[in-house]
Amino acid sequence: MQKQVYLQTYGCQMNERDSEEILGMLTAQGYGLVQREEEADVILLNTCSVRAHAEERAFGKMGLMQQLKQERPDLVLGILGCMAKAQREAIFRRLPQVDLVAGPAEIYDLPDLLAKIAEKRQREGLGVATRLMAVDRKVRPLDQKPAGDHRQGRVTAFVTIMEGCDKKCAYCIVPVTRGQEVSRPIGEILEEVQQLARAGFKQVMLLGQNVNSYGKRFPDGSGYQGPKRRERLLALEDDGREETPADSHDDGTRLCDFPVLLRQIDAETGIPWVKFTTSHPFDAHERLFRAMAECRSVCEFLHLPVQSGSDRLLRAMRRGYTVESYLAKVARLRELCPGISLSTDIIVGFPGETDEDFEATMALMERVRYDSAFIFKYSPRPGTEAAKWVDDVPRQVKEARNQAALALQARISREKLERWVGREIEVLLEERNRRGQLAGHTRGHLNVVCDGPDALIGELATVRVQRVTATTLIGVLA
Ligand code: SAM
Ligand code: SF4
Repeated sequence: MQKQVYLQTYGCQMNERDSEEILGMLTAQGYGLVQREEEADVILLNTCSVRAHAEERAFGKMGLMQQLKQERPDLVLGILGCMAKAQREAIFRRLPQVDLVAGPAEIYDLPDLLAKIAEKRQREGLGVATRLMAVDRKVRPLDQKPAGDHRQGRVTAFVTIMEGCDKKCAYCIVPVTRGQEVSRPIGEILEEVQQLARAGFKQVMLLGQNVNSYGKRFPDGSGYQGPKRRERLLALEDDGREETPADSHDDGTRLCDFPVLLRQIDAETGIPWVKFTTSHPFDAHERLFRAMAECRSVCEFLHLPVQSGSDRLLRAMRRGYTVESYLAKVARLRELCPGISLSTDIIVGFPGETDEDFEATMALMERVRYDSAFIFKYSPRPGTEAAKWVDDVPRQVKEARNQAALALQARISREKLERWVGREIEVLLEERNRRGQLAGHTRGHLNVVCDGPDALIGELATVRVQRVTATTLIGVLA
């Protein structure tokens, strides 16, 4: 009989994309997909460890699933993704009925791991949980992508271009859970985007923890910081020259970095709109801004997480830039791409954050006037550098700063949106929202809703903006 799988995803778009791949892989193996836990033979949670809250939700959910397993001992329970790696010991301690713990680098092993569980059960019976753990790979074998895919919808497609993160931001668990950076070969990405364009997708969102360092390391060891780099640097030194990006190529003839990838996607794939996330400010530079300005398909939108407006905290966070250098990049970007939308991530309540530090963050928000911002209250993540420091900003202070930053951003977002009232804007209509309206995004990633027929879902349309909320443009089809 066909086995049924239920999968719940926590966290970021990279996890959503991983889940599409997991479901594709399992359906290619003959599994069916169900929307209700009670109908499943295999229950998988694809988890996130970036903040404590996401982990606690997954622990809570799996606790409930353990109760189901008491009635149905044949049920397989698995925890996948970042929490599997970060909380490997705690999972089996707190959730003794869990059968499988598999990290982000092991998702392609899933069919084999499930087969192992089935074999073990045949040998030993159903009585005890299998407690299989697979978390040791350093990097995901991106060159061994399995068959199968399960993309949601047909409008926007997520495309992973790199895995892992080589930065060491003091607060962040991602380098621990997702391991060393590795980039997908450019040919594979171009082929995937071409196929998506042919299948009718209108937009791709290129995904990576730091897309700006795309091309640093490919699965075969090449890349602009691969083993040949030292030789190239020495050769340049012999010539009495300094390294330029064009010298940092992977094979001695051609540089393959993120601006190159954007230009090739623009030139070769026919996809109408390209967006990407996330850009670390340290690696966002002139070459990127020029590619954004010159490629028609690359949308006027950049998510550029600043985290704090205080140089002292940026240093403690190990972000590698100052407020001044960040603002200089924003100014240059706005020069090359006038009208570009900017969004950011901000952490409030980082260890040692004083009122002055927080005021500096608020001042930076006022200065940049982001179109939107994600504001996070700091939570210590075991295994990170900052987790060893005293989490000294009291909970109420974190909460108050969070509310103040949210209120400031809501005002700025609204003011920026209000400039659109009475004007027309191009929108990619993506779905029907819960109120039954058509909903989509602009090239600048602004939310838009309007009334209209189903036939327009997946189409580019012009909307005349009539009014706004703090987050959304509301209008009519023009
Ligand atoms: N790679 C991206 C970058 O460098 O900006 C961000 C990836 S991270 C998964 C998403 C956001 O979560 C970060 O930008 C940061 O604001 C937030 N974050 C990460 N660790 C955090 C922590 N321990 N507490 C609160 N927020 C955190
Ligand atoms: Fe985390 Fe920093 Fe890497 Fe982003 S760049 S994933 S915040 S370590």
